[in-house]
Amino acid sequence: MNRSSIRLAVLFLAALITLPGYAQKSAILAGHLIDTETGTATADQIIITEHNPENGRSEILAIGSDIDIPDDAEIIDLSDQWVMGGLVDAHDHLGITYKEEPESWYYYYTIISDSTPLRAIQSMSTGFQKLASGFTIVRDLGNNGLYADTALRQAIEMGWVPGPTMINSGIIIGAFGGQLYETPEREDTVYPEYLNADTDDEIVKAIRRNIHYGAKVIKVCVDCQAYPYTVEQLKLFVSEAANAGQKVSGHVQTREGARRAIEAGLWSLDHDNALDEELHAMMAEKGIFRAGTETPQADFMRPMSDERWERRVRMLRDAYDQGVPLVFSTDADYYIPGFNRGELTIEFIRTWEAAGIPAADILKVMTWNGYRISETEDSRGPVKVGYAADIIATADNPLEDINALRDVRFVMKDGKVFKKDGVVEPLDFFHNGPVFGWRKR
Ligand SMILES: [Zn+2]
Repeated sequence: MNRSSIRLAVLFLAALITLPGYAQKSAILAGHLIDTETGTATADQIIITEHNPENGRSEILAIGSDIDIPDDAEIIDLSDQWVMGGLVDAHDHLGITYKEEPESWYYYYTIISDSTPLRAIQSMSTGFQKLASGFTIVRDLGNNGLYADTALRQAIEMGWVPGPTMINSGIIIGAFGGQLYETPEREDTVYPEYLNADTDDEIVKAIRRNIHYGAKVIKVCVDCQAYPYTVEQLKLFVSEAANAGQKVSGHVQTREGARRAIEAGLWSLDHDNALDEELHAMMAEKGIFRAGTETPQADFMRPMSDERWERRVRMLRDAYDQGVPLVFSTDADYYIPGFNRGELTIEFIRTWEAAGIPAADILKVMTWNGYRISETEDSRGPVKVGYAADIIATADNPLEDINALRDVRFVMKDGKVFKKDGVVEPLDFFHNGPVFGWRKR
């Protein structure tokens, strides 16, 4: 080796060390490691994680009480904390915020005044806020303009911004009019919030269009108009989505719509108002997820009648008792002064507490059941060797008091620290290159 080639070799080695292409390892010293599926905790565990800046992937390499810590691993001391997999919100809309001013809690104004690019930036912000509260996976189910949800998922997956793993639906598919009430003078204002699909051909096209533009789950408005989809049409949704390996999540607001959705075998039913004991029994039998979006009653929330609140709590309890697969799902897409989006999301544990559901089971719903509805349970969510390195921690034990989740002290997403000692420090997530592959779909 001559002098110049030695110099080149030294430069190359120096570049290897300073380039982001160097694997980042961490060793988390976990005082208590919670298995949220079983509701058990193991004391004094070491978790070795790795983030690969070459492709953005992460992996939990090893877990144990007596394992070697690699020399190049950064030590993260959580020996006084409760460590677990990240939380899942199975129903939100990151690119929209309901508010009193200027739209009286309705979103016509947003649709008209806010461009998709603006809403994409908004959804980055809301995703950021949710991640800060420990939500590492979000099912983002429509009302995001022209695929702001896909844009956010791509940006997160490319490593441009930190955010939760996105299971996004693209545009909500519905019968003529979507979830809105149009005027004949301005027909088609529903687009792009909704894709009208009335015939079988239109249903197939709408599903394929969404999948082509980056949807990872199909969202259908089952019964938003006086002409709900038939069981046969809903079965077409299921089979056409399945043709691309995807599931169908159904907004239901009438009992008959919910019944048809169950009969057609949808993956999940969204919203709780139309569900009752008989439908719960059918859902339990078929293993259909209940994404209830159970808004809590609280003085800072929009007013809700005692009757509605009492029914909501009673029905949640009934679904729990009957063994319906439950998920934590919020629709927390509105502005409440004093709360960021993550803080508002966590307030929904009030409803679960009111239903008298034990803390360990609420935690399981917010994690393990969330991984299942998102279909990540074999790759992301549980803190197990070989899984993606998404890890959160709290100061207190959420198996005893679920309110411990109100103060998530630590968030690791894909092997990178996003929040530590209660402080968000995201700079490590940002880069400006196409390093994880360009044209990601
Ligand atoms: Zn919703």
